[in-house]
Amino acid sequence: MIFYPKSRNRPFHLGTFPLESLPRDEALIALESALPRVAAPVRERSDGLLVAAVYHYSEIYADFGERYLAAARAPLPDDLERRAVDAKGAAYFMDASQVGICRIPENAWLEGATPEAHDHAVVLLVEDGRVPEPDNLAHHWAAPAVRATSDMRAGEIAALVAGHIRQMGFPARIHYAGYQTLDLDRLAVLAGLAVRRGDGVENPYLGRGFSLAVVSTDYALACDRPLSAKAMGAKGLGYWWGVGGARSGRERNRRARRRSDLGPYAMETVRRVERPTTLIAEDEVPRVPKRAAFFQRALEGDLGEKAQKARTRFSFKHPMSWSQLGVIRSMVPFQDGEIAAVDPGRFSDPAANARAIKSLSYFLGADMTGICEVPRYAWYSHKDTGAPIEPYHKYAVVMLIDQGFETMEGGSGDDWISGAQSMRAYLRGAEIAGIMAEVLRGEGFPARSQTNADSDVLHIPVTLWAGLGELSRIGELILNPFLGPRLKTVVLTTDMPLEVDKPIDFGLQYFCGNCWKCARECPCDAIPWGDKVMFNGYEMWKPDVERCARYRLTNSKGSACGRCMKTCPLNKVVDADGPLLTRIASWCGINAMWLKPLLVPIGVWLDDKLQNGKRNPLKKWWFDHEIIDRVTVEPRAGTNQRDIDPTRELDPAKQKMAYYHADAMPAPDASALVPVDRKAALAAKAVLETPDEARARIARGEAPPSHYTPTPPTGEAEANKDAVTSPYFTK
Ligand code: SF4
Ligand code: SF4
Repeated sequence: MIFYPKSRNRPFHLGTFPLESLPRDEALIALESALPRVAAPVRERSDGLLVAAVYHYSEIYADFGERYLAAARAPLPDDLERRAVDAKGAAYFMDASQVGICRIPENAWLEGATPEAHDHAVVLLVEDGRVPEPDNLAHHWAAPAVRATSDMRAGEIAALVAGHIRQMGFPARIHYAGYQTLDLDRLAVLAGLAVRRGDGVENPYLGRGFSLAVVSTDYALACDRPLSAKAMGAKGLGYWWGVGGARSGRERNRRARRRSDLGPYAMETVRRVERPTTLIAEDEVPRVPKRAAFFQRALEGDLGEKAQKARTRFSFKHPMSWSQLGVIRSMVPFQDGEIAAVDPGRFSDPAANARAIKSLSYFLGADMTGICEVPRYAWYSHKDTGAPIEPYHKYAVVMLIDQGFETMEGGSGDDWISGAQSMRAYLRGAEIAGIMAEVLRGEGFPARSQTNADSDVLHIPVTLWAGLGELSRIGELILNPFLGPRLKTVVLTTDMPLEVDKPIDFGLQYFCGNCWKCARECPCDAIPWGDKVMFNGYEMWKPDVERCARYRLTNSKGSACGRCMKTCPLNKVVDADGPLLTRIASWCGINAMWLKPLLVPIGVWLDDKLQNGKRNPLKKWWFDHEIIDRVTVEPRAGTNQRDIDPTRELDPAKQKMAYYHADAMPAPDASALVPVDRKAALAAKAVLETPDEARARIARGEAPPSHYTPTPPTGEAEANKDAVTSPYFTK
């Protein structure tokens, strides 16, 4: 397709493999159901640091096997097909490779297991990761851990789907390697994901390179039919071309052929520069306390009662994100830990180490990884307890997690799935960085994952220095040349010696300087229509963070918001299956930047003409649901049903933006409520410098402006010991 991705007309719940094109054989249901029960399979355990870390996380997910059940059932359609779209969509959303549904025959329960009253199985399959090259130091981590890693991911996805179903009021339980009372192979055959061959089962596209997990439930769903044995010849022309909008074999091959430390996207083709493309007055940037973050301020009550109440549920008021919340919380205690007393001598080459770390991140599922030294100003100054933070690690491994193009296409950006999209990326990042940190500590290096749930490091500066993007008009958001703004970050800090990357320049400053679509489409006018300013030492388009935070917290027709990301013209699929025009534009944007004055206005205009940013109903897999008092109901206020509005006029002179400079932040250890002073923050516009003024002042050797000086501690740190330690834990 020239203008749109091939997958545009493919319903999301079909997944990325063209399973729907395979021949089926209904007679297999009777045959499979007549076979004897089997004994529980013996789980072959491997050794190795990565295996141990993966088993650890697998145990965390097993703990979600059968938890909280909502007290009442959600309003759901009787249409079993529509229910299956939701259940499969949830599994694909969480990165299952393939999903099928079947009824559970009596003989699917393992020998000795007591059959439960669950009659349906959502069966999901996760393909194996790619082992790094033998000369890569990550090879010896990954090679013995392939099966354990796919098992863990399958268990994680099952735990999230089961939580989603239970929050809709139906019992659901998970089964995966090491934690099962069901025969996974039998259910994979019945659900149309595998064919019996020899002593095991095989998948038409993946052979035996996959792991399985099952969610058993009494939630009635439309079932799939078993695959015919003929399905095993499925890798024909249609597969290579991407029949029905499925991901093509060509694109899968392209990814598999790249060096394992380079990841799926050609970041090596992007121009590298010595410094980020936006000014950072490094000697002037004030370190800020966690207490000053607006979501933390909301939790403390600084934004008023309504925002404080909403803070405990804004992102978790849909069954999917509610399910994610528990898993995210459970990983926080393992972000740091003991360092093994071993000689890390074989890791003396920073370049080889960097290559290994990147390959490991891609093996575990990161979308893009870069490395930098952590500048002192990137460390928060104080924890939320008010205790000072002394920088403790030298390097940051920064990883990007794609929020998912397709689900974003299905929503308005501020409807009921929006919060779950963020949480999915935070969860995946926390898992990847947590496992990597555990491996590095096992090799004798200090290492800590810095996640959305608990980070001592500000992610934006390290993402810039690690060469993963440039600052965009959206403000406190980095935009990447391949993922656009559709990303979340996770950071691993460590003292392992690492070769660092350089910042990138793909001309985004020019692009955002001549595009206003995110500002036009923001529901609360939080994105500046005007020029960049200096804020706390950074040159940036400074958003009205208070307004954005309030909207995300109190959005009554959805959960949180990511509309600016959804509607950005650079929110695209840039791979071999992406639109031809996008691929050409992306190539020009990276390799022929001199064409930008010609191409950017055309690109911005064409993006609206093509109606990009509208919702695509084929991608909407979820139900519009809201959780109130822990029960899933129809949304009280309805659902945001927005598309785009190219007619909206923007006038920078009329836009009122609030600036909370460092001197207007609450004290790092403030335990009492510190109400935001919006009037003063609006007036603080008057003290802003332009980037040119800042450059000139610095050249003259003059001191930074007084509003760069943070509010000092009150001395209450000791009294404030009980402060929350993560935004996911409420007071
Ligand atoms: Fe606006 Fe939503 Fe983006 Fe915040 S997240 S800037 S409210 S579009
Ligand atoms: Fe930049 Fe336009 Fe995207 Fe906003 S919508 S971030 S201005 S490219």
